[in-house]
Amino acid sequence: MSDCIFCKIVSGDIPGDIVYQDEAVLAFRDLSPQAPVHFLVIPKKHISTINDFKSEDASLVGKLFLAAKIVAKQENIDESGYRCVMNCNDDGGQTVHHVHLHVMGKRQMTWPPG
Ligand code: 5GP
Ligand code: ZN
Repeated sequence: MSDCIFCKIVSGDIPGDIVYQDEAVLAFRDLSPQAPVHFLVIPKKHISTINDFKSEDASLVGKLFLAAKIVAKQENIDESGYRCVMNCNDDGGQTVHHVHLHVMGKRQMTWPPG
């Protein structure tokens, strides 16, 4: 996706503060952090929304959470706790249409979310 900002971070066309990557996923710090630790985990291949996940993406979806767990430990929030959020479309608050798992920690989260 040539006009997708997260695809450009994957390709290196725009910089990202990368905290983890493997063959399938990339994790980088959010530009506008909503918690002291806030990073995004994305698939390296372009998928616009949760609605576009296909059955063959099941392993990839799992890898997003496995990467979240690895980076949470790296960032020392694994024991204190963290929140994982994936927004979908307008009512979900999705602004970048390349699926991404928000991982936020190092502060107390509240419920319900806004
Ligand atoms: P959404 O609102 O789609 O769930 O989340 C998009 C997130 O991407 C936001 O938290 C926003 O701060 C972050 N973001 C948008 N553009 C960039 C960028 O160019 N670089 C980084 N690192 N984060 C971005
Ligand atoms: Zn993309």
